[in-house]
Amino acid sequence: MGCFGMKINVKGLRHALGNREHFDLQENFPPLKFQDETIEFNKPVKVSLDITNAGDFLDARGKITTAVRLNCGRCLESFVYPLETNFEEHYYPVEEGQELEGPDDEDAVSFTGETLNIEPEVINTIQLAIPMRQICSEECRGLCPQCGTNLNKEECSCKNDNIDPRMAVLKELLEEK
Ligand SMILES: [Zn+2]
Ligand SMILES: [Zn+2]
Repeated sequence: MGCFGMKINVKGLRHALGNREHFDLQENFPPLKFQDETIEFNKPVKVSLDITNAGDFLDARGKITTAVRLNCGRCLESFVYPLETNFEEHYYPVEEGQELEGPDDEDAVSFTGETLNIEPEVINTIQLAIPMRQICSEECRGLCPQCGTNLNKEECSCKNDNIDPRMAVLKELLEEK
């Protein structure tokens, strides 16, 4: 299929309107910048993609699946977050050194020659799919506000006198950036 990394050879698609090909790609990605953090991948990034020659552009759509390592906002422990998200981009051919002009199309990306490098768009799509508020589980009990004990792992002897769970939620909202 002419795939190497996140590059796709579209020679067979370029010149035949309506042609469609399926591509399966997989690659180990280096850690990702996300807000102020660096996020590690726990699995290779898999992209399953159908590319159709739509005339003016190559219509690429499919699914990205992977897993990333996030830090829980409550207990601060790291946990694995399985990530699955849709991918959709429109690749417009341009001549070497030319800029893409014209299309009123928010999914527009340009490419030259007969190879698509979808890696930048894959990274972008993954970044958009990472939740802003990261919690290891809805049941996570977080840290004791007094001694810092991870209450998922053990009880502490502080008197956190029955914090009303609704107050705990409110407190969390207030702490959210
Ligand atoms: Zn947690
Ligand atoms: Zn405590």
